[in-house]
Amino acid sequence: MASANGVQLSVNLEGERKMQDFGAQLATAIGKIDAPLLILLNGDLGAGKTTISRGVLQGLGHQGAVKSPTYTLVEPYELDIGTVYHFDLYRLIDSEELEHIGFSDYLSAAKLCIIEWPKNGGSYIPKPDISIDISVYQLSRQVTLDSMTECGNQCINLLQQK
Ligand code: ADP
Ligand code: MG
Repeated sequence: MASANGVQLSVNLEGERKMQDFGAQLATAIGKIDAPLLILLNGDLGAGKTTISRGVLQGLGHQGAVKSPTYTLVEPYELDIGTVYHFDLYRLIDSEELEHIGFSDYLSAAKLCIIEWPKNGGSYIPKPDISIDISVYQLSRQVTLDSMTECGNQCINLLQQK
């Protein structure tokens, strides 16, 4: 479906397993894009942002646990596609802290950056390739992806073609 910014995809997923599987499908699409990607994850506490991130990281070949970076701010992963940074800005008090940790260097070094609670990063967060919104519906989650760039369009199109 076309939207003002590009392509939109919305799916309803019931259960953690389906959320992780969807993340893994997204990983397959990400792996086919030959450019760095920035993906933002919006949604309340407990919506499933870390769960979908876990699916993406494991889909990209990460073996083992995916810790929530709530306390560390960022977890790095060296994977076949390159460096992946998983951020969680939930505990960020002042967005200027991002300047102190060299946030823009992370962005330019990464093949993929996934950011939970991007709103806390304020103006330090550039326009993403894909913005994902997760809403809680009782036992399931509505997951909506919006592309903001050409690479984001390609990625969502690949995901729809699977
Ligand atoms: P967040 O990172 O957004 O705070 P988490 O990924 O930690 O949220 O997930 C919170 C809870 O939601 C976990 O218990 C997880 O099992 C559950 N969950 C995740 N995705 C789904 C889903 N699609 N349907 C039902 N429960 C889900
Ligand atoms: Mg989380």
